[in-house]
Amino acid sequence: MEGQIKWLKTTNKGNSILEMSQAALAHMQTALRLAKYALDHGETPVACVMVHTPTNKLIAYGMNDTNKSLTGIAHAEFMAIEQVQEVFGRKDTSIFKDITLYVTVEPCIMCASALKQLGIGSVVFGCGNERFGGNGSILSIHKDSSTSPENRHLVIPGLLRREAIMLLRYFYVRENDKAPKPRTKSTRKLDKETFPAIDWSIYLTAAEFEAYYGKDKRCSFENNTDINEDIDWKVINSSNDSLIQELDCLRNDFKMHSHKRHKR
Ligand SMILES: [Zn+2]
Repeated sequence: MEGQIKWLKTTNKGNSILEMSQAALAHMQTALRLAKYALDHGETPVACVMVHTPTNKLIAYGMNDTNKSLTGIAHAEFMAIEQVQEVFGRKDTSIFKDITLYVTVEPCIMCASALKQLGIGSVVFGCGNERFGGNGSILSIHKDSSTSPENRHLVIPGLLRREAIMLLRYFYVRENDKAPKPRTKSTRKLDKETFPAIDWSIYLTAAEFEAYYGKDKRCSFENNTDINEDIDWKVINSSNDSLIQELDCLRNDFKMHSHKRHKR
């Protein structure tokens, strides 16, 4: 879609694709570390960070809280939205157009719809959500014109995709071990070698893909392979109990700076 490419050019002015993708990579790594943290604390390993696009600063984070809160809708995106609204209020949602969401798994239809109604700037996700995905896998809410037609946002899939899949596999293997009748050993074995191909064309045109990931990655698009050759095992196996404190510090930092800006 032409619109998506124009959007990329205007939003990322001055930044080369490489600089931009390195920053994006770092944000997705943070989201993955948080997903691992969620896994270590008994939750489904899905997490996100919201980044203020003009300053590249973390503004909010979220992880799945469906087990602890016992509500099926406590998805990572809602926790992050809540954090943004704590600072900026609920009435004026204009801050969302300046936000890029990095989330380890494609937003579900419910979250994709909420994000669109709030006017989110863009969404970058790791692996697709084959059952409930709202950004291309099942529905393409971000391009849909039935709700908030004025809010169409850019969606980029596939960033650190295998890392996001691996965390989900850790979770399913563990859940199966906890089940009263564990399945046979063969189904329980953790697969660290094989990954399904990613069909980029479900989500992006070739031109959109190139505008974000760069021309040199074109063969990934054509061969339905991942962008990075190696899997980042360090991020998957990370264990960091002070992560929440660190993220809260970054949030506070942003809050203070944005207040200063408003006072000027
Ligand atoms: Zn959701």
